[in-house]
Amino acid sequence: MRVLIGGGSGFIGRELTKLLKDKGHEVTIISRQPGPDRITWTDLESASLPVCDAVVNLAGENILNPLKRWSESYKSEVFNSRLNTTRSLTRAITSSQTPPQSWILITGIACYRANVQTLYTEDSEWTTFDLWSQLVKEWEEAGRLPANTTKNTKQVVIRSGVVLGQGGGAIKQMLTPFWLGLGGTLGSGNQPFPWIHVSDLAGIIAHSLDTSRIPTSSQPEVFNGVAPALNTNHEFTQELGRVLKRPTLLPLPEFFLRAALGWERAVILTQGQRVVPKRTLESGFQFQYPDLTSALRQILAR
Ligand code: NDP
Repeated sequence: MRVLIGGGSGFIGRELTKLLKDKGHEVTIISRQPGPDRITWTDLESASLPVCDAVVNLAGENILNPLKRWSESYKSEVFNSRLNTTRSLTRAITSSQTPPQSWILITGIACYRANVQTLYTEDSEWTTFDLWSQLVKEWEEAGRLPANTTKNTKQVVIRSGVVLGQGGGAIKQMLTPFWLGLGGTLGSGNQPFPWIHVSDLAGIIAHSLDTSRIPTSSQPEVFNGVAPALNTNHEFTQELGRVLKRPTLLPLPEFFLRAALGWERAVILTQGQRVVPKRTLESGFQFQYPDLTSALRQILAR
């Protein structure tokens, strides 16, 4: 299979590329930088979609870059990097003479309102209520193919939780403070912490490429990309400290996170949703790392 991956140079894209190549597939990345086995977004706009069997979009400016001040221009970059790349791919698929069999968009679980009681599945109703749910709405709309294209192309949306893995994502930013014994819960720590191991997220994407399940509607098939374990931020912090054998006594208060990241971004860390991968499991996907202990042991193994 030939797979085209927008933003394939990133943390999740590298894991996905390795998995697909190990399975014998060919991968081409769409990047802002030219290079071997790559095309640029400008190439995509100026020529037609390269012949491929599947398209995945993983492009997007890092939202939680602690080195970047939360400003209107950064916020626009966070939105535009996701919406414009997704629109470019939707347009390219729609106008392709040889459309791919699958179009897979990775978004986030921020569409579900943070709440410690409600358990969300892929079937849960949601409407926009803040900046992040608005982003997911616009992002998923940008990825929607016109009805006449969906006969040929299966659409999948994977709503991901916090992605944990070696060499990137949230863990990379947390390791130094935890090693220094400065790790602790974020805010109250009672907020749900929906997470997934990067190998499992790559696995769900690869699983979605299987076109033997024929789409029954023109709507995208939605999968929640979260581990089945329901953990809180406190449980995650304790487990990370236990696996690292480091203390976790210093909570980071909410006001500090708001001051450091801006209140709109701090919400991502201080609030969380209880999300389960109901349809992901029903579709036959088997998690390699369903619980925190196995995930963190793999990630922190030297
Ligand atoms: P990365 O931060 O590793 O970046 C992915 C790629 O996006 C980069 O390699 C880069 O490719 C491209 N990119 C970055 N900024 C821009 C920009 N301004 N314009 C166009 N392209 C850009 O992301 P992840 O791999 O961690 O995440 C991939 C997707 O999954 C993102 O859309 C993210 O929102 C989503 N997601 C991630 C989660 C996580 O915890 N990591 C959780 C939920 C959703 P290049 O430099 O080659 O152009």
